[in-house]
Amino acid sequence: MKKMTFGKDTAMQEMILCKLGELVLKGLNRHAFEDRLLANLRRRLNACGGKFRVYSRQSTLYAEPQSENCDIEAAFNACRQVFGITSVSRAKPCEKDKDAILETAKEYLADTLRAAKSFKVEAKRADKSFPMTSIEISQYVGGYLHDAFPHLTVDVHNPELIVHIEIRDAAAYVHGPASAGAGGLPIGMGGRAVSLLSGGIDSPVSSYMMAKRGVSLEMVHFFSPPYTSEQAKEKVLSLAKLLTPWCGRLTVHIVPFTEIQEEIRRSCPEEYFTLIMRRFMMRMAELVAVRVGAKALVTGECLGQVASQTMEALRSSEDVCALPVLRPLIGMDKEEIVRIARRIGTFDTSILPYEDCCIVFTPRHPKTHPVIEEVREIEAALDVDALIARAMEQTEIVKVSY
Ligand code: ATP
Ligand code: MG
Repeated sequence: MKKMTFGKDTAMQEMILCKLGELVLKGLNRHAFEDRLLANLRRRLNACGGKFRVYSRQSTLYAEPQSENCDIEAAFNACRQVFGITSVSRAKPCEKDKDAILETAKEYLADTLRAAKSFKVEAKRADKSFPMTSIEISQYVGGYLHDAFPHLTVDVHNPELIVHIEIRDAAAYVHGPASAGAGGLPIGMGGRAVSLLSGGIDSPVSSYMMAKRGVSLEMVHFFSPPYTSEQAKEKVLSLAKLLTPWCGRLTVHIVPFTEIQEEIRRSCPEEYFTLIMRRFMMRMAELVAVRVGAKALVTGECLGQVASQTMEALRSSEDVCALPVLRPLIGMDKEEIVRIARRIGTFDTSILPYEDCCIVFTPRHPKTHPVIEEVREIEAALDVDALIARAMEQTEIVKVSY
């Protein structure tokens, strides 16, 4: 096959095919889904060097490199982190001709074919005007590949390698096994929420999980200098950065929490410190939500994980806000959360030893089953509005991108 060079025929370069998820979506929704996904994918591929042409046809997104400096490996990995995509393949397009397809498969998948012991060819014909049926294409290409790589056995039931051939409108595409995509819904389809991001293991995972359902996030972090260090703040910003390949660019609202914590210590019984502190966090997160037009709050809380995560304690923190509080980790075990943290790449940063403001003034015997009226009463010793107003005023806003 003649070698294609850029400028002559960019359409025949190795490219990326992405299959869409949530196929139950129909009609108008379907369009909104695809439009959003295309915009998200384009934005993401802009950071992969070079220029990619990104478009959708027949429930598939195509990303075609348009210049020499496109990093196809980086682009492939980027596609795997875009929510709304269920599978991703690097593919080689060729002319819609049976011998062009065969030659492309032989060349493009040569190493993979040599490494495999058994294989089969699976052809799909989206372009019904192509003169062979899917079965005929599979048999034709399979037969000749078998001749070219005689060590292979054909195994139609449980092959080690499946050679995929897709005959589509513009071209035929040859690829090996597809890799799993991120699944979920495109960011932006699920509305907007404010996520409370600490430096721990849980809240990056809860943020990831809501982003996966298409929620665009705005982050809020509370920090208490000098009780918490500059490194603790940097750690949270690093976590936000690690989340951007999944969540898109993020804005982190960093809210000073020292005065509030000191006031709580001065005026409230020790066993209520954490409960009341959490009420302040929820109130201020809600104020950020109102400011940015978000419709929910997200936390990394998990039932029973710590004293402040009993049902009564959750009720106590929810008591102060009107927006729904989304807690995607509520029913998960720590091991499950850790597994996700490792997979998405936040775990190693989360376990760095810098302290969170939650461990400042931790009560020795926290109240685990608080009565809501009592919490309200104890809190009434504080000038809640003034404390919040001062903290909000000093909020620092940091933008984080990939
Ligand atoms: P994480 O691992 O997310 O820190 P955790 O198990 O340590 O969670 P807590 O410290 O009780 O639990 O915090 C519960 C939730 O409250 C966190 O998941 C996070 O959403 C929020 N949160 C805690 N500390 C902060 C903070 N300093 N800034 C913003 N949100 C916070
Ligand atoms: Mg924590």
